[in-house]
Amino acid sequence: MVSSNSVPPGSSSLYPTFARVDLSFESGEGAWLNGSDGRRYLDFGSGIAVTSLGHAHPRLVAALQEQAARVWHVSNIYRIPQQEALAERLTAESFADRVFFTNSGAEAVEAAIKTARRYHYVNGAPERFRIITFEGAFHGRTLATIAAGGQAKYLEGFGPKVDGFDQVPFGDLTAAEDAIGPETAAILIEPIQGEGGVRPVPHAELRALRALCDRHGLLLIFDEVQTGVGRTGELFAHSWSGITPDIMAIAKGIGGGFPLGACLATEEAAKGMTPGVHGTTFGGNPLACAVGLAVLDVMLEPGFLDEVNRISLVFKQKLAGLVDDHPQVFDLVRGEGLLIGLRCNVAAAKVVGAMRAEGLLGVGAGDNTVRLLPPLTAREPEIEEAMARLEAAAARIEAELDEAELSAAEAAVAKAVAAEAPAEQKS
Ligand SMILES: *Cc1c(COP(=O)(O)O)cnc(C)c1O
Repeated sequence: MVSSNSVPPGSSSLYPTFARVDLSFESGEGAWLNGSDGRRYLDFGSGIAVTSLGHAHPRLVAALQEQAARVWHVSNIYRIPQQEALAERLTAESFADRVFFTNSGAEAVEAAIKTARRYHYVNGAPERFRIITFEGAFHGRTLATIAAGGQAKYLEGFGPKVDGFDQVPFGDLTAAEDAIGPETAAILIEPIQGEGGVRPVPHAELRALRALCDRHGLLLIFDEVQTGVGRTGELFAHSWSGITPDIMAIAKGIGGGFPLGACLATEEAAKGMTPGVHGTTFGGNPLACAVGLAVLDVMLEPGFLDEVNRISLVFKQKLAGLVDDHPQVFDLVRGEGLLIGLRCNVAAAKVVGAMRAEGLLGVGAGDNTVRLLPPLTAREPEIEEAMARLEAAAARIEAELDEAELSAAEAAVAKAVAAEAPAEQKS
């Protein structure tokens, strides 16, 4: 069934694979989007954690325009200085020594999976190709990444599941250890499950997984496609736990809206990725990397991430108040930095709809959670505005609930009256 707010399938020539909202946008600036319906929307979805510096950030626009006037694409047959510079920047700021650029998150995760398998292959253990993943995970929509994510709804109808992924319950370290066998190559995990509902993995658990990998000669892969690039208030979310992975996938925020992803690895973990074993036509092209460099230039300015953390505390404190004031609608608030989840007591989709009706954009997620992913440039005025709209959305839902309750009560009275009527007739 299609809600009145969705575009009915068949209304355009596109695959009807997305349940699209009947709304488009003409322009944007910072945290704001101008809808083609003439309304202004406060964008706390950021295209699902992608427009990390908001819309039309002047430095990103300048970087893109400057590069667009020079050269767009040359292929990875040649050296690409922007790509080398971005790789240098990423390795200087992380555990990694090597980078492979992609166009998307799923491709970055694919590269991570291939890197882990090749590592054991060149180590003389080609039988070690299996990867342990966690329930509720999301790693992308390619054949391998749906197998890694393990969600039945994404696997159905696409033939045999790609072999080599063993899934254990979220948060179950014992199950993870028990799943390790002679064919195990790696453990793959999101430090905070994004699509799964902003479910953080406790820092102690990430440290325990690191130790487990070290004990068993496994590679630890972090999928930071959603959590990475400043979203949690650190450049990469795993920094909060004090440990580092061997391999990491990033995407979403690094391009600020331009399609760009990357797989980062230590020299040791990347040692199997020798000439010819992997490739991409578009990955890391000059346009994408010019924008990626500009994104990092802004985020790595002194104090930028401190501000993200400060505003995150302000926002989360206000959200805790909102949850307290509207227990019928909201259950709890969780997350790190500006990757925030509001678990709901009514359908999360209903809350997203009510927010949109109030001109505030958020994104649904698993575990009946609404994701709030403001641009990292959001400050008090945007937070205040979002709170006012969240209050209004909550009031809208409560009014609906009250109405439903009232009509249920009325129906009960009517039923009682109807039950009495024949009795009167009898007398
Ligand atoms: C979005 C996401 C992906 C997939 O990224 P695409 O660019 O859609 O391929 C993979 N992993 C995580 C954690 C994500 O949030």
